[in-house]
Amino acid sequence: MKLAVFYDHAYAAPGVPSLARLAVAARTLHDAGVADLHKPPAFDMHLLRGLHTDAYLDAFDAGLEPLASTQGIRWNPGVRDATYAMLAGQLAAAQHAWSHGLAMNLARGFHHAVPERGSGFCALNGLALIAHVWPSMKVFVIDCDEHGGNGTEEFAARLPNLYNASMFGTRFGCLGNERSWPYEVRLARDGRRAHLRALAAIEQRLVRTAPDLVVYQAGADSHEGDPKSRSGFSTRALAERDLAVFRMVRTAGIPMLFVVAGGYQRAADIARINLTTARCALRVFSRA
Ligand SMILES: [Zn+2]
Repeated sequence: MKLAVFYDHAYAAPGVPSLARLAVAARTLHDAGVADLHKPPAFDMHLLRGLHTDAYLDAFDAGLEPLASTQGIRWNPGVRDATYAMLAGQLAAAQHAWSHGLAMNLARGFHHAVPERGSGFCALNGLALIAHVWPSMKVFVIDCDEHGGNGTEEFAARLPNLYNASMFGTRFGCLGNERSWPYEVRLARDGRRAHLRALAAIEQRLVRTAPDLVVYQAGADSHEGDPKSRSGFSTRALAERDLAVFRMVRTAGIPMLFVVAGGYQRAADIARINLTTARCALRVFSRA
């Protein structure tokens, strides 16, 4: 079994390291023989209407400053097109997950974006977008990026079919609400039992919610070698995290899509972590 990985060359906008590294990850997954790369169709930006404000969408589409660069990456047409391509990948991967059970979108940069602007290297919220496009589907985000999913949390307060469980080492304003549950765990400080307790709490929320889709943010910036990590996950601990999440979703029988989210080490080091995540997914989902 190979993993269906949604990716387009447009994702890796040149000159922007946090985007260009996605090309390294795509090559790494392909060369390791684990991925079937799928190119998403063109993105229809009108799907974003009603999710983000019109003022922000118009500014991001046309490059009107200062709004266009509020995510912290200087706007240019390549950054816009990369963002739209990754959003198209989100929708195509969600549909693939519904028909085949599992998909990966080799994308990043969603969970800090709020309705009125971008933030934290996230321009538009591709996690909330799935709930917005399919309002009859319950979408449950399991966010294990180093940083809390504050933007997704804000959208969860507005979209009754969006749920957000965020386990992080750095809170980033993620405080919780009726459909958003924050878990601060720094493995290096709090220990493995605290990590397992948080995972068990997320599993309980998942089972109680019984969603139609899980979207997993397999952030690589929790890794101990990452300059932004307060979590201090070793390579092995990150793989254990990924396996635990894939197993809980597989056991619950819920279609799943996952993205690579944050990572700020050298591109080759992040790509190796992304490859381990892909292998963990295959290991859990290829079992009959
Ligand atoms: Zn992050």
